[in-house]
Amino acid sequence: MAQERNDQENRMGSDNGDGLARFTCGICHRTTGRLHDLKRHRIAIHGIEKFFCRVESSCKRYESAGIGRPFNRKDKRNEHEHKVHKVHNRKLDKRRR
Ligand SMILES: [Zn+2]
Ligand SMILES: [Zn+2]
Repeated sequence: MAQERNDQENRMGSDNGDGLARFTCGICHRTTGRLHDLKRHRIAIHGIEKFFCRVESSCKRYESAGIGRPFNRKDKRNEHEHKVHKVHNRKLDKRRR
């Protein structure tokens, strides 16, 4: 019995094109039907999805600069770090882990 249930849950995880694809918030486990809604939820409820420059404390995009303006997207932040500070993000990511 229990195994059958697991099987069904696994199938639900895949998008079978009926518009019921679910995206789960990793923080409160709320599900939404759209990725866009999940992003909005995360920002509204948890206040995340802000990405600050991690390189130069004098950078206007740095978190503790007070006037720092965060990026809304991680890849934009990474792009900034790469272009402005000549940093390879792989290095930063390794250090964070
Ligand atoms: Zn949430
Ligand atoms: Zn910067």
